[in-house]
Amino acid sequence: MHLQINSEHRLDQALWRSSAHFDARPAGAVAELIVVHCVSLPEGEYGTGAPQRLFTGQLDCDEHSSFADLEGVHVAPHVMIDRRGQIEQFVAFDQRAWHAGVSNWRGRPSCNDFSIGIELEGAVADTYTDAQYRALILLVITLLKAYPQIGADAVVGHCDIAPGRKADPGPNFDWSKVVLELHKHLSLFV
Ligand SMILES: [Zn+2]
Repeated sequence: MHLQINSEHRLDQALWRSSAHFDARPAGAVAELIVVHCVSLPEGEYGTGAPQRLFTGQLDCDEHSSFADLEGVHVAPHVMIDRRGQIEQFVAFDQRAWHAGVSNWRGRPSCNDFSIGIELEGAVADTYTDAQYRALILLVITLLKAYPQIGADAVVGHCDIAPGRKADPGPNFDWSKVVLELHKHLSLFV
């Protein structure tokens, strides 16, 4: 698979699902950080389509008892990678998607302003699929090329920018896989 970002800051290969859960980045702000999350609704159940409905404002919160606290919640990542490694995009990369909430990276608050949010379909207590790692690594490499102000060391978990409040993508997410592939790839360019 090859990924390409077009002039509208969208992935040509991703299924586009329009969301209203974004606004403009502040003047002068650009993407400098990638934040990895996980989501499943209900928690631990996959392929339900409910996260996509949440991100596009179409979730019926009466669908499941655990959705009650999602009433009025307006969130979306830029992209989501499902268990098969397929990528859906909700917000263009140059816009500010509402994914990180109260957060801080290297002393800078409000990470939504300068980050790209990637949701993996998953749960904090679960592991991720090989297809998800492959798609994520390819996506991160593509983003680093398209947005050079993102450093190779600026790929973090939601847990890293909102410690104590957020635990995703969880202890079973294998950062070494991602970092190793990134380093392999980047070393081709030095
Ligand atoms: Zn998160």
